[in-house]
Amino acid sequence: MAIPATPTSPPAVTTAEALALDLMADGFSADDIRLRTEIAPDDLYRLAALHNVPSPHGTIEGFGCHRARREQPSEKCAPLEARCEAQFRARQRIADAERTLGRQHRTRRGRRNTLARA
Ligand SMILES: [Zn+2]
Repeated sequence: MAIPATPTSPPAVTTAEALALDLMADGFSADDIRLRTEIAPDDLYRLAALHNVPSPHGTIEGFGCHRARREQPSEKCAPLEARCEAQFRARQRIADAERTLGRQHRTRRGRRNTLARA
């Protein structure tokens, strides 16, 4: 029996990812979607770009989708740029802080070496 070739379609989405994309199409905010599906906004926009899910224009989420696709925002999304950039920067700072905290946590055991050098 012939085994069908692996289709070259995008990777299958998980239930949470499919739900997140559905919620975005329904106009839920990225933060709401994160609460419901635990999918971070940046991942959501990347997913939407990967699976060709249309972005809800005129919203922060829509702008995020344009950004994930590395394309110019549409006429409706363009005015949201300043707000979106502020949100992205805030999220980046939180992510950086979380990474820094995680690193400190991980290196705590090896602190003796760090202190010896200081
Ligand atoms: Zn748009």
